[in-house]
Amino acid sequence: MSLTISSGFDGGNIACLDSSDPADIRLAIRKDNYSGFFQWFHFRLCGARGAECRLRIVNAGESAYPEGWRGYRAAASYDRRTWFRVDTDYDGAVLTIRHRPERDSVWYAYFAPYSMERHADLVAETLAAPIVSLSVLGRTLDGQDLDLLRIGGDAPGKRVLWAIARQHPGETMAEWWMEGFLRRLLDPADAAARALLERCVLRVVPNMNPDGSRRGHLRTNAAGANLNREWDAPTMERSPEVALVRAAMEREGVDFCLDVHGDEALPYVFLAGAEGIPGWSGRLAGLDRDFREALLKASPDFQTERGYPINSPGTANLQMCTNWVAQRFDALSLTLEQPFKDNANAPDAEAGWSPERSRRLGAACVEAIAAIADRLR
Ligand code: ZN
Repeated sequence: MSLTISSGFDGGNIACLDSSDPADIRLAIRKDNYSGFFQWFHFRLCGARGAECRLRIVNAGESAYPEGWRGYRAAASYDRRTWFRVDTDYDGAVLTIRHRPERDSVWYAYFAPYSMERHADLVAETLAAPIVSLSVLGRTLDGQDLDLLRIGGDAPGKRVLWAIARQHPGETMAEWWMEGFLRRLLDPADAAARALLERCVLRVVPNMNPDGSRRGHLRTNAAGANLNREWDAPTMERSPEVALVRAAMEREGVDFCLDVHGDEALPYVFLAGAEGIPGWSGRLAGLDRDFREALLKASPDFQTERGYPINSPGTANLQMCTNWVAQRFDALSLTLEQPFKDNANAPDAEAGWSPERSRRLGAACVEAIAAIADRLR
């Protein structure tokens, strides 16, 4: 039997060290370009149908978030549409995936991938709605378009709401979230979406990091920049993605911003706010609380018990999108985190946290935003 391990495709990432024995396949995750970060993997295994395979990622313990491997199960798919979880364990150094493929070709990934081809399809699907237009804000360092969807036109006097995703490209659940968010927002028969669009326009960046996405990075762009540490002083040389979106925010204004991510370690859906900014106020605290309450009502997966520690006053990192936007625009600004693993409060043995759960959460966010839209200014 001759096995093949490959990752030379959109979003692929693995180095194959040895595939001579299906019971002892040795792999390593490649670092993000010009960066020490790594954790995202996505590869294809061919020629192992019926074989008891043991795939060992030997550098897992040196990855960006080793805690992410505890209680984690790798995602696998035969058709690249349905992703299921497979037996995985972590001994503190090596991540071991055990699987007996039923077909000649099987894909494995850190989470269900979201390719740039699918991104192009999502943008095209969204543009079928007459109230949506596209602004290409500029080019990335690899020469890809940075897409901004403008929903609801220019209507003066309306509030301007922003949603951005995938500053960290390996957090593919953020763009699955976008599918659910955009589809519900553009459903003309949906009451919450209609109410929202009567009062607000939206500015949506479904993928902030096309280069990192295509290169198979966890956390950085082509130049090794962690985009969510670039917001205070982005440059066109190092972080054009942030420079271009920030300039668009300055032109159009911001009354609300949601920055969508995934968290490697915590098996929960949670929000992180901007409590530590110098300009934090009773008004922002009230909006923050109201949005959390609205999302609790709208989504069974959201919770407020678990999450990051809250920044004490004045200690916010203004290099991060949520803090920079809240401070600059005196606006409600939040980071939404979804798990790579599963929702421990409502686990799914087959799929873990999944594209479908991410889409449902995106749809629920339309309702939660609609519930507070009147009070944003
Ligand atoms: Zn992130």
